[in-house]
Amino acid sequence: MKPNGFFPERILRLKAYHVPSAEGLIKLDAMENPYSWPEPVRELWLEFLRATELNRYPDPRATALKETLREVERIPATFDILFGNGSDELIQILIASLIGSEGGVLAPEPTFIMYRQIAEMFGVPFTAVPLREDFSLDLEGMVQAIEQRHPKLVFLAYPNNPAGNLFDRRAVETLIEAVDGLVVVDEAYAPFTDKTFLPDLDRFPNLLVLRTLSKWGLAGIRIGYLVGAPEWLEQFDKLRLPYNVGVLTQLTARFALTEAKPFLDGQVAEIRRERKRLFKALQALPEVEPFPSETNFILFRTPNADRVFEELKTKKILLKNLNPQGGLLRDCLRVTVGTPEENGQFLAALWRIVR
Ligand SMILES: *Cc1c(COP(=O)(O)O)cnc(C)c1O
Repeated sequence: MKPNGFFPERILRLKAYHVPSAEGLIKLDAMENPYSWPEPVRELWLEFLRATELNRYPDPRATALKETLREVERIPATFDILFGNGSDELIQILIASLIGSEGGVLAPEPTFIMYRQIAEMFGVPFTAVPLREDFSLDLEGMVQAIEQRHPKLVFLAYPNNPAGNLFDRRAVETLIEAVDGLVVVDEAYAPFTDKTFLPDLDRFPNLLVLRTLSKWGLAGIRIGYLVGAPEWLEQFDKLRLPYNVGVLTQLTARFALTEAKPFLDGQVAEIRRERKRLFKALQALPEVEPFPSETNFILFRTPNADRVFEELKTKKILLKNLNPQGGLLRDCLRVTVGTPEENGQFLAALWRIVR
């Protein structure tokens, strides 16, 4: 048998998530924290890891990490926390729960690509509702689609990726009330905004909040978490593989949330300051239109985005080119906020290209 006869059409049609090589380039494409750890913090972290028993399986419930997180994020005992190998895995668990049942997934688009990708992977129906020209929610369109399709899961990235904006809070609340199923508010960029739905879990029994430590500065260890009512999380927990979060990840996450927290929060403050500077500089460039961002990246529109993207690459700067996705993202590029030096190099290169 050939692979073509082995796999269903649904899988043959999928495209694997493509990560371009960034060798030798200034990497401003993936929303990573640009700062590495200073030597004294590294030493302290290694001390933390020294006591780990690598021959033993990790704590399947990550109890110690859960307690730390509860304290740091002030998550009340009435809500449970489910950990994933990145929040990607939690999205996979959420959508896997719909396999073989009625109802599907709904999300506005453009948004985080994995909601659609995972739904298609599992053959779960996916409905996309276009955002408006300014990347805000089309509330009427969303409500109409919800009434027609009765989705069991609605994903709202808050702030949204790739536009970087926050949806109107009232609109989100209206949607939570309109859905019979669950609304997952994906707060991957929580460190870079002051808005959150975490305190609203009390008011909405069908709300789940998804978070990750990736954008804060720990993309390499893979840890995300889902917060919500225990009745819901208890069921999703059955779809989680028992040892999905390794010992090194659990320990490092705890270290980051305690010992390393002040300096990681300091980096985030620096990134937020740089975001402001970068936005103003982009605004000042001829024909470049940046969109306001509550994240660690800025989406901007520029004539001939494909050419600008390629020319930046020849100048050793890697962005994300969203032009191939078309629609609202026509002629759009996305730049992650880097260090002041990296941003300076990016701006100088862009200036030479577009002026
Ligand atoms: C980056 C991102 C994620 C995935 O984060 P991981 O925890 O690294 O898997 C989820 N949602 C959104 C909106 C993102 O931008």
